[in-house]
Amino acid sequence: MSQLDALIEGKQVDSGGPVLDVVSPATGEIVAQVREAGPVQVAVAVAAARASFADWSTRPVGERAEVLDRLAHLIERNGDAIVDAVSTEMGMPFGLARPTQVELVASVLRRTAATAREFPWVAQHDGFEVHHLAAGVVAAITPWNMPAYQVTTKLGPALAAGCTAVLKPSELAPTAAHRFVELAHEAGLPAGVLNVVHGRGPTTGEILVGSEGVDVVSFTGSVAAGSRVAAVAGAGLRRVALELGGKSATVVLDDADLDEVIPRAVRAAFVNSGQACNAPTRLLVPRAAMARVEVLAASTVVRLRVGAPDRPDTDLGPLVSHAQHARVTGFLDRALAAGARVVAGVEGVQSPYFGPVVLGDVARDSEIAREEVFGPVLVLLPYDDDADAIRLANDTRYGLSAELWSPDPARVATVAAGLRSGQVKVNGVRTRERPDAPFGGFGASGVGRELGTWGLHEFLEVKAVLA
Ligand code: NAD
Repeated sequence: MSQLDALIEGKQVDSGGPVLDVVSPATGEIVAQVREAGPVQVAVAVAAARASFADWSTRPVGERAEVLDRLAHLIERNGDAIVDAVSTEMGMPFGLARPTQVELVASVLRRTAATAREFPWVAQHDGFEVHHLAAGVVAAITPWNMPAYQVTTKLGPALAAGCTAVLKPSELAPTAAHRFVELAHEAGLPAGVLNVVHGRGPTTGEILVGSEGVDVVSFTGSVAAGSRVAAVAGAGLRRVALELGGKSATVVLDDADLDEVIPRAVRAAFVNSGQACNAPTRLLVPRAAMARVEVLAASTVVRLRVGAPDRPDTDLGPLVSHAQHARVTGFLDRALAAGARVVAGVEGVQSPYFGPVVLGDVARDSEIAREEVFGPVLVLLPYDDDADAIRLANDTRYGLSAELWSPDPARVATVAAGLRSGQVKVNGVRTRERPDAPFGGFGASGVGRELGTWGLHEFLEVKAVLA
């Protein structure tokens, strides 16, 4: 069982705080422990990052990019251990953990290195130059649902930009993130550039966000915590990037091939047991097609396998915890009480496993149609015409992602233009297939963008030299 303590200047240091258990949702066993960092350890970690800034930020960009390339290689070499840690701690099926927590992590690191090499660090304009400088010390706070990937989309560009950082990973799934930082040191990252503190959000996380010496806060997590983080960071006039939740829509136009599209749209909603910020959990279909859609959705759901994360045929592993199970059950019970109908579901599943559910007869303004569940619950919503589909897709406080299906490029262009979300994915393309495309949200889905040059800009200051 791993015992994780703060990692400061490349060494584990005794945080002295309470010990927090990490519990495997699949087995109920304690699989790791972290020692929570308090104000002193957080201050030491931030001081280490600050002390390293002058050196790291002024190294040639090629040197920083090489560290990321070497780290990508080490992530792949340690892939089995990372898959194992992620699946054990939060229940992700092996078949999903390998492509998203190892292969995608390595590819994002390599793409980030390439982006940094090609980036116009000094750009000539008419009468002035624009210089891009590392923004400073970054506080990075990440959730449990894609624990290695979310660390990568922050720390990759932060390090490439020349920033130094303190990471606080989720206390529910800390091991892969901790390993990422150890491997970064093996890859040649100088001690002090990247440090880790462990602990809960309202304690360690909030101390970090409010720390003197932090310049940029990059947060991924829930709307409630993000709002608190923004308030604390704002009080200290720190820059904030927020990657928050969503209630993303799949819009199926009336010329789409339902037999192909509906099974794919339904499966997409249940990836990672619905515990994905961009999970397309509202399926918008032409009213006339609803009966056929229900049949196709039901025949897709009966084929989904709920089971242990290490089984090769598992589609949905457990939810992260019994508490999450209770939360998702609450959403489902309230939806049924409000008149929703179960179109399809997998029954006989014990907590923290949750059988995927498809709901029909859902009112547009109901809780289940509007709020993020973060579990395998998909709602079917009928629409009348393309304009109504756009209105319905946009009728949300979120705006992280939307999916759109149609063989007609002109209709795709028109509907995509009307959708207000950070990504619009056409005809089944996945976010992970376009790792250079900006990712982030409108409205309550957050502030700022990760990935590509947009992700690099989150960690840069701009200086204009006028001559
Ligand atoms: P969470 O908000 O509970 O926790 C996320 C992280 O923030 C954890 O490390 C936690 O310890 C920390 N935290 C919590 N309260 C804090 C506070 N007051 N100050 C500082 N840090 C604090 O979220 P979660 O349950 O871990 O993750 C699920 C949520 O994350 C969902 O809402 C999901 O949509 C969102 N998410 C968004 C994206 C995205 O890119 N937009 C990606 C993944 C997850």
